[in-house]
Amino acid sequence: TQATLDHIKATDDRYEAFITLMETNALEQAKKIDQAGVSSAQMLAGIPFGIKDNMVTKGVQTTAASRMLHDFKPIYDATVLERLSQAGAIGVGKLNMDEFAMGSTTETSYYKQTKNAWDQTKIPGGSSGGSAVSVAAGQVPFALGSDTGGSIRQPAAFNGVVGLKPTYGRVSRWGLIAFASSLDQIGPITRTVEDNALVLNAIAGYDARDQTSSKQTVPDFTANLTGNIKGMKIAIPKEYFGDGVDPKVVSVVKAGIAQLEALGAHVEEVSLPHTKYGVAAYYILGSSEASSNLQRFDGIRYGFRAENVQTLEDLYVQTRSQGFGDEVKRRIMLGTYSLSAGSYDAYFKKAAQVRTLIADEFEQVFGQYDLIVAPTTPNIAYGFGENQDDPQVAYMNDALTIPVNLAGLPGMSINAGFIDGLPVGMQLIGNRFEEAKIYQAAYAFE
Ligand code: GLN
Repeated sequence: TQATLDHIKATDDRYEAFITLMETNALEQAKKIDQAGVSSAQMLAGIPFGIKDNMVTKGVQTTAASRMLHDFKPIYDATVLERLSQAGAIGVGKLNMDEFAMGSTTETSYYKQTKNAWDQTKIPGGSSGGSAVSVAAGQVPFALGSDTGGSIRQPAAFNGVVGLKPTYGRVSRWGLIAFASSLDQIGPITRTVEDNALVLNAIAGYDARDQTSSKQTVPDFTANLTGNIKGMKIAIPKEYFGDGVDPKVVSVVKAGIAQLEALGAHVEEVSLPHTKYGVAAYYILGSSEASSNLQRFDGIRYGFRAENVQTLEDLYVQTRSQGFGDEVKRRIMLGTYSLSAGSYDAYFKKAAQVRTLIADEFEQVFGQYDLIVAPTTPNIAYGFGENQDDPQVAYMNDALTIPVNLAGLPGMSINAGFIDGLPVGMQLIGNRFEEAKIYQAAYAFE
């Protein structure tokens, strides 16, 4: 643990992945394990890990990369952190992200600009940018991220690591600062598929404190790591290889698919025709939920409070004007508008209907196939400030990850190769609660 902390301190000027180090807590916990010894239940004893800064840590600043939560010290630990602690893992620090997880580049953080692990002139992806970089750069063996529309898989792709968004309901959201509650899910980012399965083993499972937590039994996710995928049926959705997807990305991912075929998988093309409506539906639904979830940041209960105000309303307005960044404000406005009486039917309701169509067409494909394989992102990591002027262009970057969240499915990004020294992610999508099949194929591929 000490060596990990020293290594982070020696390297983080270069990557700027961490917002807060948890030195005292981490060393104390390591000492306890040293003294008490390791029980057989502690599968991750002594393994250090990083935590995206939207998961609450008892007594340790938790910012969600927002000014609004500067210096906020929660009074409890998120369920995932309790479970990892029971497994013996040691949280060493809080990782940078887009403010309230809204973004795809980690550029909307109030605190710092995390750099891509492979090329520090490039964005790390986001919103779990700090998590993916800290793992790819070798600062920690694993990190937790959260994924609402791609925020685990996209930065994992841009940094060449393994990132899984579990099935909605598989992992407790208790203690995750909510962005869009019907889409958010916590998951592991690791360097290998096996590590990823081990971490999911530790964090998955029912939690009475999260009403959307599933009682579905949790298998041992390492059980299928045999290298054998003979006869596995894989669907390739043609819409994920079309317009707007960099042809170089297409060719790297197609080579990956050929490798799965060589390992004995049956590969066939399918169509998911509603894919093109995913982004529009997501930004209405996600922003609507965000506008509701973020009402709690009012300057009264906790977090930032504006000074020199005259009235209560002035306090709300000043606190929220100064505490939130531009992207967060944009989403609150979009969401509030979509939910308003005059717009609800035209926007929110329509988007919810599109969501059902997308979930239905996935379900049809999974009636016949084990997995869907596609690129994780339409492009590779790009320069800072690019795609910033027009939010709509930036939003299209999530076109290939968003449908998975809308349908509540599990999805993984795994490295498939490189273009000009930058990693390309291949996405494996499974049916609900079938993470084990994703791990099986990813392990064979790796
Ligand atoms: N980039 C997407 C957004 O900005 C997804 C973010 C996420 O998954 N948290 O909303």
